[in-house]
Amino acid sequence: MAMLEVKDLSVSYGHVRALKNVSIEADEGEIYSIIGSNGAGKTSLLRSISGLVKPTSGQVEFLGAKLPGKPHQIVKQGIVHVPEGRRTFSGLTIQDNLLVGGYLYKHDMHHDLEEQYKRFPILRERKDQFAGTLSGGEQQMLAIARGLMSHPKIMLLDEPSLGLAPIIVNQIFELIQEIRDSGITIFLVEQNARKALSICDKACVLENGIITVCGTGKELLCSDVVKKAYLGA
Ligand code: ATP
Repeated sequence: MAMLEVKDLSVSYGHVRALKNVSIEADEGEIYSIIGSNGAGKTSLLRSISGLVKPTSGQVEFLGAKLPGKPHQIVKQGIVHVPEGRRTFSGLTIQDNLLVGGYLYKHDMHHDLEEQYKRFPILRERKDQFAGTLSGGEQQMLAIARGLMSHPKIMLLDEPSLGLAPIIVNQIFELIQEIRDSGITIFLVEQNARKALSICDKACVLENGIITVCGTGKELLCSDVVKKAYLGA
């Protein structure tokens, strides 16, 4: 049974159709990359998994059962969304941002904070500063750490490398692989198609809300259509 299965999902905003009959699935500890041009529907797909957008038809199943409708119920089930643009709370301290992330998982906050500070020493150094004072790369790390505070089984990552310097982009891609290696399933939306395809297990291309190509990361890296449209070949 798949960890997460999107079945025949369609999403519209009034007359604008964002997704049409999209079906994808990922198993435990896999990275599933979604690539496509601006406006192709990638964010809408992630937002409909995390309950932020209500599909017009189709459904999302987690371990074979239909997901509840409300975003907080979906987080409680173990699905966390790290949105495009980080969306950290700039007027809260770094530690408070992390505590907000762990809000629905009230086990041992101290232990959970310690885990994130071990993984991201820069966040420990700056824990009492406002999140708005962090660089873009540090804010991305904070957004991911905040997501990890809810002990997710699935992480939805929307454009995590957007606007970051190449050296930081490499760090973010290494981090994504570490998170996958810890057993978390990742759905990754990325403009950096070459990198996203080279670290993923499965992938699809979205064009105008429709899946036009899907396969393993390797297959898509070798596909002429993908090379021409997304890999600059
Ligand atoms: P980008 O890479 O630019 O973020 P995307 O692939 O993530 O694009 P979406 O943001 O999902 O694409 O948008 C898909 C389509 O739905 C686009 O035509 C977009 O203009 C439209 N859309 C997205 N959100 C809304 C909204 N809240 N209201 C109306 N139309 C929307």
